[in-house]
Amino acid sequence: PIEPWFIGGPVIKGFGRGSKVLGIPTANLPADNFSELVSEHTSGVYFGWAGLSTHGIYKMVMSIGWNPYFDNTEKTVEPWLLHDFDEDFYGEELRLAIVGYIRPQANFHSLESLIERIHEDGRIAEKALDLPAYAKYKDSPYLRNPL
Ligand code: ADP
Ligand code: MG
Repeated sequence: PIEPWFIGGPVIKGFGRGSKVLGIPTANLPADNFSELVSEHTSGVYFGWAGLSTHGIYKMVMSIGWNPYFDNTEKTVEPWLLHDFDEDFYGEELRLAIVGYIRPQANFHSLESLIERIHEDGRIAEKALDLPAYAKYKDSPYLRNPL
């Protein structure tokens, strides 16, 4: 188990390749706002809860760090919310409670194996977040701004 941490901000535009190339949209946050918090944490795949103002609270899975497949040079924070939305929500306030760790970052030899692994991460997150130890953070007041 990890010590939960909390970050948030307005959803910004990324490189537009999450949903377009992978079929997995990731809501990007301005990582410079909390680069210290991010650098304190091991790169890898985490899960937790996402509070999206005006929408609600959802399960999420996210990678922290450089994206080896795309040779990113900057650390990014981009959760995939495990919910089907009818519309994009750029500019909305997104609050995250990051409560668990799944795996370190890995290199994938194909886009197919990367996508496969992210879906597996999503299933792991779905299940883990139903466990009381992780489910309790759904009620974190921090997530509910301004719900
Ligand atoms: P970008 O590179 O701009 O982040 P993506 O291709 O990663 O673009 O798509 C992310 C955007 O898609 C989010 O900013 C959000 O507005 C929208 N979106 C729709 N559904 C989801 C979802 N389930 N999880 C995350 N973002 C989503
Ligand atoms: Mg994205």
